[in-house]
Amino acid sequence: MTETSSLAIPAFAAPTLPVADGNTQFPVRRVFCVGRNYAAHAREMGADPQAEPPFFFMKPATAVQHHGRIAYPTRTEDYHHEVELVVALSNGGRDIPVVAALDRVFGYGVGLDLTRRDVQAALKKSGKSWEMGKCADQSAPVSAITPVATCGHPASGAIRLTVNDRIVQQGDLADMILDVPHIIAELSTWFELMPGDLLFTGTPEGVGPLQRGDHLLAEVSGLARLELELV
Ligand code: MN
Repeated sequence: MTETSSLAIPAFAAPTLPVADGNTQFPVRRVFCVGRNYAAHAREMGADPQAEPPFFFMKPATAVQHHGRIAYPTRTEDYHHEVELVVALSNGGRDIPVVAALDRVFGYGVGLDLTRRDVQAALKKSGKSWEMGKCADQSAPVSAITPVATCGHPASGAIRLTVNDRIVQQGDLADMILDVPHIIAELSTWFELMPGDLLFTGTPEGVGPLQRGDHLLAEVSGLARLELELV
């Protein structure tokens, strides 16, 4: 018998995000995203938020990136910003009750759900999967994670994206259609949620294209900020 327990290629570690007020790193397992979770954004995308409730999609964990420079991706001429509150889970489970959902949260960050909008629009039109629009390399930059012990559970407060010193997106967390407990409860009926999972909670209105050279500052009040340069 040949040895079968060793790895065929070298093991790779989970992507990590720094924890805001410590020396630890938060390991990222999976990235779940909520689509059209703010009514004004649903309307700007041509959808009726009354008729069509928020829904879920995923990004690869390898798309998660912290501060620094991110590359404008291939195969798009219309790369859009979507600033979002990000929830980092310390625990998971199946069929989690809404009232117990916040017990699973380790902390919160602010992230960008960067989107090849031209690709997404073409895929939508032809009834195909969104993935090539949503899953570009480095398409899920996230700030340091602020632990619940520091920030509590932000249910309201400003969320904002500034590009080159101009505010381009501005909203309030209180305007989310599905709040964080309901997102966790609902997702846990589709998947067994696990420690390390990140939840992008949807973007307020004002999405738009980015250009190479743009300087981005994403903020949620009370949380660590995210600063990036697109190159
Ligand atoms: Mn989004």
